[in-house]
Amino acid sequence: MMNNKQVAVIGGGCAGLSAAAHLAERGYAVTVFEASSQLGGRARTVVVENKDLMQLLDNGQHILLGAYTETLALLEKIGVDENQVFLRQPLQLNMQSAAAKSVFSLKSARFLPAPLNMLWGFLCCRGLNFSERIAALKLMRYLKSTRYEIISDRPLEQFLIDHQQTVRLIELLWEPLCLAALNTPIDNASTRIFLNVVRDSFTGNKKYSDFLLPRLDLSQIISHPLSQFIQSKGGVIKLNQRIRHLQVEDNGFSLETRDEKSIFSHVIIAVSPARVDRFLASLPTLKRALEITQTYQYQPIYTIYLQYPAETQLPTVMSGLSNTIAQWAFDRGQLCGQKGLIAVIVSAEGSHQKMKHDALALKVAKELNRAFPHLPKPLWHKVIAEKRATFACTPNLARPSNKTAQPQLFLAGDYTHAEYPATIEGAIRSGIACANLIG
Ligand SMILES: Cc1cc2nc3c(=O)[nH]c(=O)nc-3n(C[C@H](O)[C@H](O)[C@H](O)COP(=O)(O)OP(=O)(O)OC[C@H]3O[C@@H](n4cnc5c(N)ncnc54)[C@H](O)[C@@H]3O)c2cc1C
Repeated sequence: MMNNKQVAVIGGGCAGLSAAAHLAERGYAVTVFEASSQLGGRARTVVVENKDLMQLLDNGQHILLGAYTETLALLEKIGVDENQVFLRQPLQLNMQSAAAKSVFSLKSARFLPAPLNMLWGFLCCRGLNFSERIAALKLMRYLKSTRYEIISDRPLEQFLIDHQQTVRLIELLWEPLCLAALNTPIDNASTRIFLNVVRDSFTGNKKYSDFLLPRLDLSQIISHPLSQFIQSKGGVIKLNQRIRHLQVEDNGFSLETRDEKSIFSHVIIAVSPARVDRFLASLPTLKRALEITQTYQYQPIYTIYLQYPAETQLPTVMSGLSNTIAQWAFDRGQLCGQKGLIAVIVSAEGSHQKMKHDALALKVAKELNRAFPHLPKPLWHKVIAEKRATFACTPNLARPSNKTAQPQLFLAGDYTHAEYPATIEGAIRSGIACANLIG
């Protein structure tokens, strides 16, 4: 069934592609304009040239959660088999100290339903003393009784101190989770949004707290299949087509790229918050949204790829590191067959931002070597710095809604999904919300 609405989607990241997929499926004539030469936005694969070798690397090692229900449903709809593209692991944290000792490990119990699986995990975890375990359990019980809601938002660190979480408990358990989920330093991270993620992961189906680690490069999992699906339903994808100008016309909107000007009845702006202001500033009706996004601050994510000899492995696919610049290390050999390649994540702001990439890679390699003494010298390294990887998810951060004061113009993107931090799931949910608003 064809529909006479002509929809333009500006931006081919997860939000724009999810909106376009839903609209194309319902028979709308949809066109995606993407400024760059590839789709995927902040969740994309890049080609890196290394010693005459072309290597495919993700712009950042992404982790998804079992609670990302809309992402998983969308992938299933477009024919992506979850079992082939993700390694699903029940929640498991292994924090390693620089002195090659495991300092903390927590594993949810596979054989128990939620939330008993986590209760068991806390009771049996290594690295916390008895009173710290009880403090963590008491907090979890309190959160359950309040349905993970708080009356007034405040920095997560403050909230945890108010709830008798010790410095060690914060350092070993809550801070790594906060950085992984919100990419914002714990002393300035929103408790409310953190608790939303905890609620969705730790309540309901026990699979919601699983980690889903990509086995293929991100583009093969998300943007390529979405693009194929959209085109199979008659949608159009235009790469290298940055929208330079958006204007309201009698019959809809005109969109201008370097090459063309075209008219659409509906527009979804699905660019990142860091790039949305020029669109918002161009229409007086979008003033409120502009006032909100102008207050946004951003946080970086650095991914340091270290290539070791092919036989090199880490003890687990995913290891946390404590008291180091490196926060998480992923063995890409075990994960996706890139033998000997280790991806190290450094989330949020820090002293590492001042370091030259080579010096940072060297420092991280030394940290890894102290934690895992069997590691030889890396053969090569590559640092990918995403300086504005996510918006800073701070307390009481205002979010613009998907529906705007301009009829038939909508905003999609991770920052518009008010429940979540900057995540693939937030982006995909925002795209679906915009598609549903159109009809
Ligand atoms: C290094 C890194 C690691 C991350 N790790 C995780 C993780 O582990 N788990 C998780 O869930 N999330 C993670 N995220 C966040 C996640 O990738 C983002 O939240 C999500 O991809 C955002 O999607 P989006 O569609 O909202 O925006 P974007 O991905 O930013 O997409 C916007 C698109 O709009 C295009 N565009 C901009 N201006 C124009 C214009 N004028 N005309 C046309 N096109 C335009 C851009 O080129 C881009 O493709 C990570 C992000 C980074 C950078």
